Amino acid sequence: MIKANRLSPEQYQENFSDIHPPFETKDAAIVEANRCLFCYDAPCIKACPTSINVPKFIKQIVTDNVKGSAHTIFLSNIMGAGCSKVCPVEKLCEGSCVYNLMDEPPIPIAKLQRYSTEIAMKNKWQLFQRKETTGKKVAVIGAGPAGLSCAHMLSREGVDVTVFEKEKLGGGLMTYGIAAYKVTPQFCEDEVDYITSIGGISIKYEQELGRNITLQELREKFDAVFLGFGVGLARQLEIPGEEFEGVEDAISFIYNIRNKGFENVAVGDKVAVIGMGMTAIDAATQAKRLGAKEVTMLYRRTQEEMPCTQAELDIAKLDGCNVIWLTAPKEILGTEGKVTSLIAEVMELGEPDASGRRSPVPTDKQFILEVDMVIKAAGQMPYEYVVMKHQLENKNGKISVNNAATNLEGVFAGGDCVNGGKEVVDAVQAGKDGATSILEYIATNARMKS
Ligand code: SF4
Repeated sequence: MIKANRLSPEQYQENFSDIHPPFETKDAAIVEANRCLFCYDAPCIKACPTSINVPKFIKQIVTDNVKGSAHTIFLSNIMGAGCSKVCPVEKLCEGSCVYNLMDEPPIPIAKLQRYSTEIAMKNKWQLFQRKETTGKKVAVIGAGPAGLSCAHMLSREGVDVTVFEKEKLGGGLMTYGIAAYKVTPQFCEDEVDYITSIGGISIKYEQELGRNITLQELREKFDAVFLGFGVGLARQLEIPGEEFEGVEDAISFIYNIRNKGFENVAVGDKVAVIGMGMTAIDAATQAKRLGAKEVTMLYRRTQEEMPCTQAELDIAKLDGCNVIWLTAPKEILGTEGKVTSLIAEVMELGEPDASGRRSPVPTDKQFILEVDMVIKAAGQMPYEYVVMKHQLENKNGKISVNNAATNLEGVFAGGDCVNGGKEVVDAVQAGKDGATSILEYIATNARMKS
């Protein structure tokens, strides 16, 4: 049966506590930092989409220069605190650490990054000086990682930035789309405040492009516009029975956990989660932690092709989630409007598709899974209607850009609305790239006018 309030407040607290706790002492951080070999041409820097100078910030921890260390991190990634909690480091910096080649545990880069950035945020250290105002104004759509990173870099250069955000809070995916045991709503709010404390950035909430603001109006009022509105709509399964009560998309499920309070989010006894990306894992593990008795993840390919990392899969397995590989949903069955079971189809792998992965091909075998809840996590779709409405050149709703510039004069874009959905750290870099192009554009326009 689908119901809320399955656990005691203490159990919710325990189930959703920080999954990667910080160092308990300064000495513990320094001991780990001292293991770093400070490699020349360090692979960990190259593996970071924002190119954080990892050996430098670790060396600064060794010498107890925490302020310098936080500055090194934030210089490359203003969301370095959040990224230290949500980045899939096993496939990025830590995955490339040379210690892996020696069969030894890699340097805990994320934990060290968290160490410095948390101290900086707690002490509200303002590590960047905003340049004198240039009188230039830029509108940013979306207060997520791409938008905030773009806004911060522009503000540092003396540009006045107005961010338009459709939700009530900033942070984007960090605030609304990530498992609550990785980042808390309070942390996300603190991070937004910390970023905007540089000054010159004002966020206007509950302002949505195409609803209460238009691109034309922004292009008239501002010197440039950056679009960083992400992706949002959950991909439908397009199978019979999706309308039954108990079928929910992973994004709104995770959103509700972040917004309504754990005890108010209903979950089934037997839950099926469709998909094997990070969002699917976050939905499955949280369903289990909300008190679901059985959670089964269905993926139409094999473990080799799964989009999530091994570490994420391990979390789901440790939480007791089952995984059925090579299986796709075929039909959802129900009685009295409520889900009762799922007909699943057994797949096999065929030729590689456009993604380079072998494509799943249905066999004639199928089976029935008894479930009372189905969570759809088969990917998200771009806000195609917004993109089309504003005549932005695009590929299947993903905005086409050239050095962050769109086909519209003075309009730039980056992050998930361009790439269709990647990591938070990729969006941060896209925001920086957008700011770089905008600064060049503004400077060129100023030269032409003089
Ligand atoms: Fe340090 Fe590992 Fe990076 Fe080398 S690869 S600098 S050991 S963190």
